[in-house]
Amino acid sequence: MSLTVAGIAPERRDMLALADDRARYSWADLDPILNRAINAMGGLDFPKERRVAVFAPNSAETVLAYVAALEAGVSSAPVSFHLNEEEVAYILGLAGAGALFVGPETASVGVAAAKAAGVPIVIGWRCPDIEGVTAWEDWIAAASDAPAATDVKPLPHLHFTSGTTGKPKATETPPGYFPPADDMAAFVDILRTRATPSPGIVVGPLYHTGPLTMVRSLAGGSALIVMEHFDPERALQIIEREKIAGSVMVPTHFQRLLALPEDVRAKYDVSSMKRLAHTGAACPPQVKRAMIDWFGPVLVEAYGGTEAGTTHAITSEEWLRKPGSVGRAAAPLETVVIGEDGKPLGANEIGQLYVRDPSGRGIIYHGDPEKTAAAHIAPGVFTLGEMGYVDDEGYVFITDRVSDMIVSGGVNIYPAEAEQVLLQHPKVADVAIIGVPNADMGEEAKALVIPRDPANPPSADELKAFCRETLAGFKCPRSYDMVDDIGRNIMGKVNKKALRRPYWPSDR
Ligand code: ATP
Repeated sequence: MSLTVAGIAPERRDMLALADDRARYSWADLDPILNRAINAMGGLDFPKERRVAVFAPNSAETVLAYVAALEAGVSSAPVSFHLNEEEVAYILGLAGAGALFVGPETASVGVAAAKAAGVPIVIGWRCPDIEGVTAWEDWIAAASDAPAATDVKPLPHLHFTSGTTGKPKATETPPGYFPPADDMAAFVDILRTRATPSPGIVVGPLYHTGPLTMVRSLAGGSALIVMEHFDPERALQIIEREKIAGSVMVPTHFQRLLALPEDVRAKYDVSSMKRLAHTGAACPPQVKRAMIDWFGPVLVEAYGGTEAGTTHAITSEEWLRKPGSVGRAAAPLETVVIGEDGKPLGANEIGQLYVRDPSGRGIIYHGDPEKTAAAHIAPGVFTLGEMGYVDDEGYVFITDRVSDMIVSGGVNIYPAEAEQVLLQHPKVADVAIIGVPNADMGEEAKALVIPRDPANPPSADELKAFCRETLAGFKCPRSYDMVDDIGRNIMGKVNKKALRRPYWPSDR
């Protein structure tokens, strides 16, 4: 594997390579630092069956740790920086971590978790004098800056799912498949830039595989600007100033950008953006249309999961022809829809979505052969847990997650459908529909609504009538509660299991 800077044209050596809120590095600055980080990483004294875990908010050092591991052939495992000590310790154990990287914000939780999990090495940036932490700056300085030889074959990298439907699952991606979307044609194009400078902006947390995909682009010669916290106007400033060409976002980022006043949005030139990928959760069609109107037809939607990378993708042009679709299976994958009787369904019939991986590998939940087996119906044929259908041209439409489906009087209700409708109501800021107990029907649909203006919330009758305009009666929620929060996380996902819990006598 060749190093980042080796492929950079001489005239680009003084141009920006990596920046965060604190520091800016040109390719010439980055060269020795990265070589030192790769050599230090390769020299870590732990058994080869161990991984390095990274538990830190976004920063230039976080990126360097991932790139150095990638280039040194050391397997890595990103850990969400929102987790507490117990959760981190659980993940470190599962990952077989031999070293942990932390930032100043996560150092104390990291040290305690590493101790509990028996991880002997903790390395932290901007953490002077914290007991149990080796200073990253010293660790780097002690290593050689000579270009590193990297022919090591690492273990599979481990990535953790969001835990939307339970505990985060550890998923294995084989070496060379990092990040998982890497070999998917639709995604690789996003920031392929050895020849021309096309900087990318990282706006989401790097522990998630969507934003992490962009780390690979630095190793490919594309500059990266890393935002620690997403601020919509600051993101627009950076896009204009650095002539940003690509990003990976989730629909929540789009909603926050679109919520800026019109005159603020108009101030910034975003015409440098060439590929704006989005993933992670369903994007309401009106949000996506508004983004395409604003940025142009540069949106590429990816559907997939931590365990599989991108399985489906759709360009803006395709989406405008097929609004609501998440696209076609990325070659060589194929889509299969399976009915309740376990048999494949035809076009336009709703069933459980499966993906056929012709290599026969499928997906792997690390240390959990039962979960791995449960996700497959045949070797290489796996599901990420969505219901949906494929149209006559092979475009996939997701109706909902299997686990979010509400069964009312024996009829299946996919809450995502009514959620998309309610989101278009002018008085609704956000909504989640869940199944709650009903004596006759088993369960019934309830909408938890965040009103745009809490002083003037919509009435239940108003919302019901709005739903009925476009949906059959059985699909419309029976009851509507006004709430302040539905727990949508940083990646735009809602944990419906947690929302349902107070309504059910025992956890389902
Ligand atoms: P867990 O598996 O731990 O419950 P999770 O499934 O949310 O969490 P991730 O791997 O982070 O974990 O997310 C994958 C899921 O994200 C998919 O199964 C799907 O529900 C959702 N998703 C991803 N991309 C899209 C998309 N373009 N449209 C709709 N949903 C999407």
